[in-house]
Amino acid sequence: MVLCFATNNRHKLEEVKALLPNGYSLLTLQDIGCEVALLETQPTLEGNAHQKASYIKKHFGVDCFADDTGLEVDALDGAPGVHSARYADPHPNANENNDQANCAKLLQELKGKEHRQARFRTVICLIKGSGIHYFEGTISGTIIQQPLGSQGFGYDPVFQPEGVLHTFAQMSSVQKNRISHRGEAIGKLIQFLGVKD
Ligand code: IMP
Repeated sequence: MVLCFATNNRHKLEEVKALLPNGYSLLTLQDIGCEVALLETQPTLEGNAHQKASYIKKHFGVDCFADDTGLEVDALDGAPGVHSARYADPHPNANENNDQANCAKLLQELKGKEHRQARFRTVICLIKGSGIHYFEGTISGTIIQQPLGSQGFGYDPVFQPEGVLHTFAQMSSVQKNRISHRGEAIGKLIQFLGVKD
């Protein structure tokens, strides 16, 4: 089964590649000749995932999926949420995924706050033939006081999953995948597609 994963994030690509069983051929945006930056201008994770996947289906004609992820922090009323990529600098032309600045802003916003409960939520939109399907994965945890670890990306150094003594950035990608929001959403996608290893 040939599917394009509509992302320019090499970390996500590696995570998803490691999760897909034999029987899948994963195309990257580079493989299909897509060189534009995919827009994420919708107000929800679902909307952004659909926006990216439908652009690829429309312009390149391949079955594909896209994800969008947000970090939802209780003490910040769910922020940064759908704005996670440009949290430190919301300007549309700003460099998105400025990981260090995003983590620093988050820690600043939570300074002095005891309640640091948060969750990652991933939504995948799959467009296969004329069908549009959504899959969601979440993981709960806490935002620690200082970044720890050098693996992963994004908010990984400040997020400690529930029941674990390390941040995502202190885990290997295999360990992270086993419990992560994206791992759960990809698991549902694989189950839906019905291909077994
Ligand atoms: P997007 O899904 O690429 O739009 O991600 C939104 C924001 O969340 C970006 O700042 C990413 O770096 C961050 N992010 C997405 N997935 C993860 C993850 O698995 N761990 C940590 N940060 C993530």
